Amino acid sequence: MAKKKVSEEEIVSENEVVTEKETKKKAASKTTAKTAEKSASKTTKKTSKKEAQPVVEEQVEATPEVKVVEPVAEKSAQEAEEVLEYTIAQKLLSLYNLQQIYSKIDRIRIIRGELPEEIQDLEDAHEGMSTRISNYKEDIDNLQAKIKEQEAKIKEAQALIKRYTEQQDNVRNNREYESLTKEIDYQNLEIQVLEKHKNKFAAEITSKQEEIQTFEAKLAEIAEILESKKNELSVIVAETEKEEAELVEQAEALKVKIEPRLLSAFERIRKNARNGLAIVQIERDACGGCFSTIPPQRQLDIRLHKKIIVCEACGRIFIDHQLVESQNESAE
Ligand SMILES: [Zn+2]
Repeated sequence: MAKKKVSEEEIVSENEVVTEKETKKKAASKTTAKTAEKSASKTTKKTSKKEAQPVVEEQVEATPEVKVVEPVAEKSAQEAEEVLEYTIAQKLLSLYNLQQIYSKIDRIRIIRGELPEEIQDLEDAHEGMSTRISNYKEDIDNLQAKIKEQEAKIKEAQALIKRYTEQQDNVRNNREYESLTKEIDYQNLEIQVLEKHKNKFAAEITSKQEEIQTFEAKLAEIAEILESKKNELSVIVAETEKEEAELVEQAEALKVKIEPRLLSAFERIRKNARNGLAIVQIERDACGGCFSTIPPQRQLDIRLHKKIIVCEACGRIFIDHQLVESQNESAE
């Protein structure tokens, strides 16, 4: 809390310092050399009690040699007038307008930022599905090989049965006949088992083929979405590149109208703000950036916009609703 408060005072005092200094410079240029001398002696006495820095400044400006002083004073007066033309209200509005442009740029970057990620996810899904299909196809090949194996064994068993049946015609006794019958029965059982395996593998193939069909339908679906997302991205890139460049240009044009110290404070706040908002309005008695409650007296100060006020909790600059509305109305 204490740290945030310091940053607030920093901004406000920075602002006041600039204004004060420029006012003095302006005043200095308009006064004659005589009054400058007088005021110089006064300020020197006065400032001797103050800090060292302002003393040096005042002394330089108030040098009795008029020829040297005049051009310097005139130049700073011009600068002063440029900055002084902007009231606190105007400064706030400049920042507000800059914020609007920045937020638009942020949105473009967010949209563009999400699409490549989505495309990457789709590409991964596409690859995953393709791998699954090829794995299933490999499984089917293996099952088909197994079926062929069973068929070969069945043929072998059938050949044995045929041989044993032929041998039965040439047996010498009953025992030999019985023994061959047993062999034939055994081979018949073997064939049954092999057929069972064969059918099981064939069923597995059928179910895998069905699943492949489902996967292929999904794959086609993914490919279609992927294609449209890729097109979307290229359109967005084409569209937003121009828009973004225009917005950046607008921001640059606006930035030169804002005093550097205020602008750098604004940029610093924006950098630290999670949503990229450095200037906010009050919404339902709370900060529009961090939602902490603003006391009524502070709200009143914000409405008066006599100085730049920042949120004690998050450091964002406040701008009054009515100020924004009056600008929008005059724009219409
Ligand atoms: Zn806040």
